[in-house]
Amino acid sequence: MLPERTRSRVRLRVEGVVQGVGFRPFVHGLATRLGLAGSVRNDVRGVLIEVEGDAEVVAAFVAQLRSGGPPMAVVERITTEALEPFGDETFVIDASDGVGPRAALVSPDTATCPDCLQELADPDDRRFGYPFVNCTNCGPRFTIVADVPYDRVNTTMARFVMCDKCRHEYRDPADRRFHAEPVCCPSCGPALRLVDASGTVLCGEPLHVAAGLLRGDAVVAVKGLGGYHLAALASSDDAVGALRARKHREEKPFAVMVGDLDAARRLCAVDDEAARVLASPRRPIVLLARRPGAPVAPAVAPGNRALGLMLPYTPLHHLLLAAVDAPLVLTSGNVSDEPIVTDDGDARARLRWIADAFLVHDRPIHIRADDSVARVFGGREMLLRRSRGYAPEPVVLAHPVARHVLGCGAELKNTFCVAKGPHAFVSQHMGDLENYETLQAYTDGIAHFCRLFDVRPEVVAHDLHPEYLSTKYASTRADLDGVELVGVQHHHAHIASCLADNGVDQPVIGIAFDGLGYGTDGTIWGGEVLLADLRDAERIGHLATVAMPGGTAAIREPWRMAAAYLDGVYGDAVPSSLDVKTRNLGQWRDVLAVAASGINSPLTSSAGRLFDAVAALLGVRDTVSYEGQAAIELEQHADPNEPGAYDAPTHDDGGLVIRSGELVRGAVEDLLDGTPVPVIAARFHNGVAALVARVAVEARDRTGVERVALSGGVFQNVLLLERAVARLKRAGLDVLVHSRVPPNDGGISLGQVAVAAARTS
Ligand code: ZN
Ligand code: ZN
Ligand code: FE
Repeated sequence: MLPERTRSRVRLRVEGVVQGVGFRPFVHGLATRLGLAGSVRNDVRGVLIEVEGDAEVVAAFVAQLRSGGPPMAVVERITTEALEPFGDETFVIDASDGVGPRAALVSPDTATCPDCLQELADPDDRRFGYPFVNCTNCGPRFTIVADVPYDRVNTTMARFVMCDKCRHEYRDPADRRFHAEPVCCPSCGPALRLVDASGTVLCGEPLHVAAGLLRGDAVVAVKGLGGYHLAALASSDDAVGALRARKHREEKPFAVMVGDLDAARRLCAVDDEAARVLASPRRPIVLLARRPGAPVAPAVAPGNRALGLMLPYTPLHHLLLAAVDAPLVLTSGNVSDEPIVTDDGDARARLRWIADAFLVHDRPIHIRADDSVARVFGGREMLLRRSRGYAPEPVVLAHPVARHVLGCGAELKNTFCVAKGPHAFVSQHMGDLENYETLQAYTDGIAHFCRLFDVRPEVVAHDLHPEYLSTKYASTRADLDGVELVGVQHHHAHIASCLADNGVDQPVIGIAFDGLGYGTDGTIWGGEVLLADLRDAERIGHLATVAMPGGTAAIREPWRMAAAYLDGVYGDAVPSSLDVKTRNLGQWRDVLAVAASGINSPLTSSAGRLFDAVAALLGVRDTVSYEGQAAIELEQHADPNEPGAYDAPTHDDGGLVIRSGELVRGAVEDLLDGTPVPVIAARFHNGVAALVARVAVEARDRTGVERVALSGGVFQNVLLLERAVARLKRAGLDVLVHSRVPPNDGGISLGQVAVAAARTS
């Protein structure tokens, strides 16, 4: 005999990014399809669901909910609780949101979804060709939210009153636009305009006139999601050359937006994983190897064999790319290193000498967010800049923080991070904290995050460098009542960031290779081997130190590092036939004299400076115009098929000292033998990978720790990372690398938070 059918009722609490992402209509749809009764509502912790019906069907509902929600949702946790059935018969969406401490999360901006794209292209749809079409599954979020809760009145859409049709969609639980806060249409939403620098509207249909200007080699400022872009035809020498000259940007590559994946494949090698990252709803810029002969003006990325590509992520981009029908350079709308412009008047004032016209609209940008940048490593994305599309999605910490924490970040590629409970909210990319505008954006950004996530920092973590503006900012917060400051050494923060990125709270051998960070012994660090956990770090090894002749001048002029390294290896017997010396003969002696005097020539163990030295030695680059340029180009020169490696022995000097100068010696000997530069560059990369593996093995033998974490900007180098990881794994070590936050200083704020939380819990 069959058992009698039993009725059950279950309450489910869903936590994560579950509000403003179409969760309630999704649940409503699922429950009604299964014929279940109950309710769903948002509250301060996320989404609360009750379902009632046949026990087996209720179980199926729970299973389906666990296996996936709507596309923009990030479900962190679902907890269930059995209740007594009480026999309701319909499923309702309860619109009342509770009050209390805020825990619901604001979601990142998300690329236009397939349903909206279909409407955009459908002449019979009322949103046909409308540049602001969006729904619960896509559209602007973080950049338009001024306050919480996430309701239309608290966004920059508040000024637009919904028309009857939009309101109907917004209120219909079965509609894709149910409670889509930015919902709008041509009759009630923002509108596009094309204006000149004085704000005068130019005649004609804005999009088509703008496309015509672009095809005629003009530079057009385009108001995007997180700021203004400057657009120019990527294939045009004249257009890109003009953009570069007017923007005062000498060599730093421009990103290119292509219409679709096929267009991307015409410019670059795009494998499956790269295609997945390019087309993901986050739509980062992805750095890819350029195809020989790709139709892109040389001025797009001078001296660079890679190109940064992205796909359209707003309806406006889709329409613009279709109208121009060619790839566009789309670079931040700013002058030199200032923050990207978001305000309309500001854009016309500051970009008037750069842009020939301005494609604008009347939906304000509340929060600035640059495009994110990623590479692909080991079958997953590795972020180099975490910004639009990612922020403010939290990183879930291994342990909830006991007190609210603020991590102030570093100086270059700054981000900050606020943490509360299990969540660490890493900010969007702030840029280099070296001018007033960026610092202002930084302090405003911290205030905004604190309001958005209801955080009042009691613990403030900062770098040890006394001159970083982020450190100085931290000290201003120390004056507030009950705030505890926690200084975190730069490379410890890098390793802790990698641990937090991977959700690990165990001791590791941390290898932190970067440009520069403040050490604890009066030298500048950057090639560090640490025995670290989230709480503490001990320096157990490092690259041998070398002088940086002229201090910051040695960063701008890598040939100075070559001189310092060659002096260390050969003393007075530097082979006179080396080109790097011949090219810089006029200053060679003076620079070495400065280094020897120690005046303004700090000692450093930096791995970044070692890459600079070898790049200059090989004639790749004597001077740079942006951070990391020499190392980036050196990586591109290396022959990936060359297996050879230079050897860098270690000696024990109370800690492991890695004689990195021996890598330079190896390169010099090959150079004098006439070995091709790509082979030498590869042997150098392999040599660094080999030394990473060897010191890690030595550290394991000394400490018994079997796991290695790789962090620091040098590990943005995928060739090095790949070789290092392979060797470490072959040695039987477990390896952690970055994926969710950058290995560069953009990840420092998360590391600081992780350390401060561990120390103060
Ligand atoms: Zn959509
Ligand atoms: Zn409308
Ligand atoms: Fe660093």
